[in-house]
Amino acid sequence: MARYIGPACKLCRREGEKLFLKGDRCYTDKCAFDRRPYPSGQHGQRRIKVTEYGIRLREKQKVRRIYGILERQFRKYFAEADRVKGVTGENLLSLLERRMDNVCYRLGFAATRADGRQLVRHGHVLVNGKPVSIPSFLVKKGDKITIHERSRELGRVKISVEGVDRRGVPEWLELDKGGLVGTVRDNPVREAITLPIKEQLIVEFYSR
Ligand code: SF4
Repeated sequence: MARYIGPACKLCRREGEKLFLKGDRCYTDKCAFDRRPYPSGQHGQRRIKVTEYGIRLREKQKVRRIYGILERQFRKYFAEADRVKGVTGENLLSLLERRMDNVCYRLGFAATRADGRQLVRHGHVLVNGKPVSIPSFLVKKGDKITIHERSRELGRVKISVEGVDRRGVPEWLELDKGGLVGTVRDNPVREAITLPIKEQLIVEFYSR
């Protein structure tokens, strides 16, 4: 699947909040959003009236950008979330959280989801001992996620796993930091996903 390769900070500025797309830089005073908290471009500082539609659109775009997914694939996630039993918005977030690139980020193997995506793509990650190179692979309860033997000395893995304490490992995952092993304890429930997302707005967006 294709991915967005443009400037990341522009996305935070457009959404009007920090999406933490650049790892450690997001916590420093180099953060572009902290410096210029308004959309980029000539008209970025104009006051515009946001419509009801606009509110829902922005929420959907924000979530897409947090997880690094393009529209077509995001729609597919929504269709799947709508199809299965339960609350659609919560199902959607659960699906997104279970993506392999996100799990690498959550476990601290990668500094960002984009980095997690590359880690997976380049064959550094194993699930239950088998290589998985698809970033959208969905983990399930009981899966064991490890870093390939030959990739354990990668500087970026070491650095990001050291920094995982700052953001914490969610309770649905378990990390053995020394052994670089992550275990999926359970499927993520809404309460375990602490991102500031109003998923109901996304449901309303697609239900227009
Ligand atoms: Fe967003 Fe700031 Fe991180 Fe850039 S540095 S991605 S603006 S949070």
